[in-house]
Amino acid sequence: MKKLFKRRSFLHLGAMTGIASGISLPALGERASGSTAGVKQYNTLGRTGLKISDISFGAATLRRGEEYLVEHALDLGVNYFDTAESYSSGQSEPVIGNALKGKRDKVVLATKAMVGVRTGRDEMMGVLEESLRNLKTDYVDVYFNHAVNNIKRLKNPEWDAFVDKARQQGKIRFTGMSGHAGRLAECVDYAVENDLFDVLLLAQNFGEDPSFYDKITQSFDFVANQHQLPAAMVKAREKNIGIVVMKVLRGARLNDMRPYEDGGATFAQAAFRWSLNNPSVDALIITMTSRDRIDEYLGASGSGAVTQEDMRLLQHYAEMTDMSYCRHACNDCEGACPQGVPIADVLRTRMYATDYGDFSFARAEYGLLAGLAAACLGCDGKPCRDACTHQIPVAELCGPTHQMLS
Ligand code: SF4
Ligand code: SF4
Repeated sequence: MKKLFKRRSFLHLGAMTGIASGISLPALGERASGSTAGVKQYNTLGRTGLKISDISFGAATLRRGEEYLVEHALDLGVNYFDTAESYSSGQSEPVIGNALKGKRDKVVLATKAMVGVRTGRDEMMGVLEESLRNLKTDYVDVYFNHAVNNIKRLKNPEWDAFVDKARQQGKIRFTGMSGHAGRLAECVDYAVENDLFDVLLLAQNFGEDPSFYDKITQSFDFVANQHQLPAAMVKAREKNIGIVVMKVLRGARLNDMRPYEDGGATFAQAAFRWSLNNPSVDALIITMTSRDRIDEYLGASGSGAVTQEDMRLLQHYAEMTDMSYCRHACNDCEGACPQGVPIADVLRTRMYATDYGDFSFARAEYGLLAGLAAACLGCDGKPCRDACTHQIPVAELCGPTHQMLS
């Protein structure tokens, strides 16, 4: 049974554990430099044998005219580029294709498509071929079934028929599944049990990893949200399935953390070190939105163990976002709203605006929800008052999200 995160305990954690005052933690390294930009570590992506940069390029918000971001990352050694046919309303793949023209043999390309319960093999092939045209290549290295949150989608027999044909034709080298919603762990379990994919792309960050709380609380009895995911990842690893993680910044409120970054490392670098020190993880992808950010991010490549300074930053961030961050792979509040507001989806779009600072992406994503949170403006908020297992004040956030993004 799922244990709930005990917020009050956590808010007082700093004083109780002495982390902020520098008590030694087991298995933590010395301060990392987090300095020179450039990839310093390439890891083997499980059974694919592909060598990919430990910190790699997520292209979810890549827009027309941003080829320079891809080129900058490539110049600094990033060789794994992850996109999807739907990203940035279809703009992401063509930008990757433009930027990587003539350099295809130097990179590992991954893209994704939503394969539904009833999607047919011909439709899948059509979507793949469109992606290949966008990417200006005749093959992708990893082709993902995108944002899987329902085992029924994994049981569609048309997928196997499609993959067989696409592989025979040399259009796909390896397959994968990506996921970041409430049923992620059970979908991963099913996929691993049935050996469906070569690679998994999973949302996981320090704040949803039970071992983070183990480290800072020692004997306290509470766990993070994704308590089943680490075990599923270990099982995947036993089958040599490659694992890439995403959404590792837990919302990416980087500017809010600048005043606290006085120890030589940044919050982002600390979060990356946490993810990359997980023995189940081969690499992470991160949305790269400026040259400076790319330089900062790559400062954590190959930088070794999580430090005490890292832990101080991560703990501060977790406390700061505790009451506002809607956990990936949660959805405990599903069905709580009698008016059908998809609370987790609304809060995710809010995060794109308030945390990522990307209002245009947030508006586009909120648009896909057809303005459903308008219902919150005329609601007293009672039905969802206790819906969030992490005590996020749902009603206080959903209505304003509608006003901000509609
Ligand atoms: S609002 Fe709370 S319960 Fe709902 S998905 Fe987000 S964190 Fe989970
Ligand atoms: S405020 Fe009302 S309409 Fe909005 S999510 Fe809560 S219960 Fe639903």
